[in-house]
Amino acid sequence: MTELRALTPHEAIPGEQSARSGRQRRLLRTFLPELVQLERVLAEAPASVTCQVLERVTVNDVTVPIYRADVGSDSPQAPVLLLVGGVHGLERIGSQVVIAWLANLVARLRWDEHLQALLDKVHITVLPILNPGGMYLNQRSNPNGVDLMRNAPITAQDRSAFLLGGQKLSPRLPWYTGDPAQGMEPENQALEGVIRELLPGRPFGLALDCHSGFGWQDQIWFPYAYRRRPMRRIASVMALKLIWEQAYPNHSYRFEPQSRHYLTHGDLWDYFYKQVNRAGDGTFIPLTLEMGSWRWIRKRPRQLLRLDGLFNPLVPHRHQRALRSHLPLMDFLLNAAASHRHWLPAMEDESMLREAAIMHWYRENG
Ligand SMILES: [Zn+2]
Repeated sequence: MTELRALTPHEAIPGEQSARSGRQRRLLRTFLPELVQLERVLAEAPASVTCQVLERVTVNDVTVPIYRADVGSDSPQAPVLLLVGGVHGLERIGSQVVIAWLANLVARLRWDEHLQALLDKVHITVLPILNPGGMYLNQRSNPNGVDLMRNAPITAQDRSAFLLGGQKLSPRLPWYTGDPAQGMEPENQALEGVIRELLPGRPFGLALDCHSGFGWQDQIWFPYAYRRRPMRRIASVMALKLIWEQAYPNHSYRFEPQSRHYLTHGDLWDYFYKQVNRAGDGTFIPLTLEMGSWRWIRKRPRQLLRLDGLFNPLVPHRHQRALRSHLPLMDFLLNAAASHRHWLPAMEDESMLREAAIMHWYRENG
């Protein structure tokens, strides 16, 4: 990490911007408008929001920062909500959704007393563009050709999906895991640094990592991706699903373990889930939002002719709908993290919820 000191965005952003030449600024506006927008949102944030550059990635001759923004309680006992976007550079809508939520939060910080009171109880950390080099190049992988979501040191227990599950053959093919002997890629090391500093020792942490490109409908995936058997904290995931569905019965997310779809090597959230939950008594639940992009294509088959059209809604009204429709989920996760004591299962409820989870998600898989 290049800078550990948390600055206000008013201190951090101008330095980043002034290091760029006019040509580099033009290139960023064209090829990475999400970064320009993120800097604008952060520049308008009040001083209670802090900002760090975790890492800088150079592509061609443009250097792009990986930003981390924080707001909320500084108590090490406060629960945490971690939001991540842009792990896959092609899935720009993931970053845009996280930035849209951050913009909403920043706007409300100026007047919303309820939000202020909530932030006394919970800490928020946001990494809206984890893979800015890949996004600049409009490719899934990072600039080294590594799929960041296949790059963690964890191996699938059963047969993984061919290629899609992660491959060691070549960075020219998709789903390249990288060279495990070299350690994780710089973007993932930056994220790991955040997770190690932020989560262990907390009573509760929730992460949402926003992706797109798989399936007809919006899905929420939880670990594992490397094995079919349930994770130890499965009762907590079931409890979260139940309070979500009681409060938002008309929402249409499918809530499932990733292993129901396919097994992969090197899944980041499997790795972080194991690391954090092994370390203490707290509960850390990492979720992945997979925005279903196939319906964007079905409604507009011409999108197939553009690579970014496979992963992002290109029609303005569909794009706006994607940007607004996930805000309630993210608000819910913030509230659920802040009030985890009131729904996280106590010891005596755990076995019942675990049994329900197994019946619901794992029985037919054997
Ligand atoms: Zn993705």
